[in-house]
Amino acid sequence: MNKKQIIQDELNKLNNSKASAEIEANTRLLRAREIPEFCKVDNDYRKLLLELAKLPPEDKKNARLEKELATLKKRRLEMLKKHGISASALEPKYSCKKCGDTGYVDNAMCECLKTKVQKALIKQSGLNNKLNFDFSKSDEKILAENPLLNKAYRFARKYCDNFPNNKEPNLVFYGEVGTGKTFLLECIANELISKLFYVVFTTAYDISKTMIKAFNSPFAERDTILSPLFESDLLIIDDLGTEPLYHESTLSNLFTLINERQRNNLALIVSTNLTPQQIDERYGNRIKSRLFNQRITVTIPFKSRDLRLK
Ligand SMILES: [Zn+2]
Repeated sequence: MNKKQIIQDELNKLNNSKASAEIEANTRLLRAREIPEFCKVDNDYRKLLLELAKLPPEDKKNARLEKELATLKKRRLEMLKKHGISASALEPKYSCKKCGDTGYVDNAMCECLKTKVQKALIKQSGLNNKLNFDFSKSDEKILAENPLLNKAYRFARKYCDNFPNNKEPNLVFYGEVGTGKTFLLECIANELISKLFYVVFTTAYDISKTMIKAFNSPFAERDTILSPLFESDLLIIDDLGTEPLYHESTLSNLFTLINERQRNNLALIVSTNLTPQQIDERYGNRIKSRLFNQRITVTIPFKSRDLRLK
């Protein structure tokens, strides 16, 4: 699924809930109309509304009709009250009062839809079973004691603020285990998802599995399987170098993916315990030179004491 489809999916769900709220309101109205005296006033009210709608714009401001309409409206409400029905009972009960379950207010995405899309993006991102660090949960004390991490942290925040317009959209985090790489990757992922970017958080091993699955699937399904890797706004590959390299195809798949994303100017962040030299030895120069392409990549070192939180 790509981002457009994710948003459309959530919008469809919202529109379904809009439609059922309206159907339910209509059912309540039909029930109220079984009361003959309410039905009569309601008919008069509707007839007048229709008449007003048919008038040319210049005749719409008609004092007599407006007064008549106000009177009918009032009588209609009185009639409902007399029979123990609240006026609001006939209104649709939308799950969001702000947008009436349309998902948009003044052409901008409503908070309700935003929240739903964020949840869907998190589900798609592969972050679901992670600790889910974000910038607000960072420990200033740990940062203060660790200049390298602190520098990387400030850089990552700036990277997120400028996303997707960073001059160097690709980052490589390298350094030993437990130096804060994954912590920072999760911060970046969560920050960008909160801004509704499509982020995919994965490992080289899962990439290989996904690509093999795609090539063994019917042609029509391949795009759907591969689009998160190839089309997401940001792809994060955590812990490059820890996956088993069983197949020659793992290398060529990885190269294709990195190359395609660079061609399309899509951001990529890789974390690894390997040095550039070790990357060269393990993946070959083709992948190494793409990963460390200085024109579009910032390489950030991580070092020193164990910072694994929990
Ligand atoms: Zn809303």
